[in-house]
Amino acid sequence: KTFRETVLVTGGAGFIGAHYVPWAAAAHPETRFVDLDLLTYAADTGAFSEQAKLPNVVPVIGDITDETLVAKIFEEMDVTGVIHFAAESHVDNSIADPLTFIRTNVEGTAVLLRAARDAWTKRGTLETSRFHHVSTDEVFGSLGFTGFFTEETPHAPNSPYSASKAASEHLVRAWRETYGMNTSITNCSNNYGPRQHGEKLIPTVIRKALAKEPIPIYGTGRNIRDWLWVEDHCRAVDLVFREAAPASAYVVGGRCEKSTIEMAEAVCAVLDEMTPWVGHRHAELMTLVADRPGHDFRYAISPEKIERDLGWRPTMAFDEGIRRTVAWYLGEGRGRLLAV
Ligand code: NAD
Repeated sequence: KTFRETVLVTGGAGFIGAHYVPWAAAAHPETRFVDLDLLTYAADTGAFSEQAKLPNVVPVIGDITDETLVAKIFEEMDVTGVIHFAAESHVDNSIADPLTFIRTNVEGTAVLLRAARDAWTKRGTLETSRFHHVSTDEVFGSLGFTGFFTEETPHAPNSPYSASKAASEHLVRAWRETYGMNTSITNCSNNYGPRQHGEKLIPTVIRKALAKEPIPIYGTGRNIRDWLWVEDHCRAVDLVFREAAPASAYVVGGRCEKSTIEMAEAVCAVLDEMTPWVGHRHAELMTLVADRPGHDFRYAISPEKIERDLGWRPTMAFDEGIRRTVAWYLGEGRGRLLAV
């Protein structure tokens, strides 16, 4: 079969990529997706093998910092667009081991940008081929009780993770300004849904609750995050990649602010309902522990621009999304829960 275009997706075995790739492969059957993923500890290898069965997905195991491999993929697969998810993504790990984050998130993005520019310049498609960079609202630093992040908010990253993501965004900007690359960027808030690695908040709450161990809550538990159903994020990425003007950036969020305690309580309430009674409400296991250093107080997004320009809306109600997430970890995703 011949395809109309080939899109290189990086990190398609990660939490968000593992939702994006099968959805996009079905939504765009005329597009071939090359999924380049190193299969680090964070990857969902089961999801990656499933992708291999799809007629328009070509999984490639490899490192985005591998210049030879990346250049070869651009040349041999005739890549016409990039959606760049691959990253080291866990803030706590970035505090313990920052250099891995610099290597993958900063250097890896530069390797991809350079290979894209070389290949697309050679083919004369630099202006029409799109490089989409998936970023986070964490690059904006912390909000107080009021206000929202918008596309105009300046970067003020506070963790090695968010600093590496901010740096990679600056590289995307530089390739746009210096080389005329056709770029787009999305800055999304916290995603939730099935398939997230066991180290993150929601699976940690579930794992600890099921083991009847204390559920650790950083600091006062009052830090606020703006939660978005992972598939709603995937649709936003796809829309911006395909329809947004060159050089555009969009912040993406679910208008769903929750403190850590509220999120943990919501997960525990669903567990109370879905698992046999264990003699206590699961939320009683919540225990405040020493705060994460540099812990940002509040992230919140005003997604007005993407709603207005592209007609994007979050579709999933939080109560339903959290039920589906917990149900997945109790069933098919049980193994993922333990993979810490
Ligand atoms: P994840 O950690 O679950 O997955 C990352 C994937 O990238 C893994 O499959 C891993 O194997 C792969 N990877 C890591 N290093 C690589 C390398 N050197 N070469 C090739 N592949 C490599 O992350 P996620 O939660 O799916 O996040 C995906 C992207 O979205 C990241 O760029 C992240 O910054 C961004 N983001 C995430 C969230 C969120 O809430 N999870 C919110 C906003 C933005």
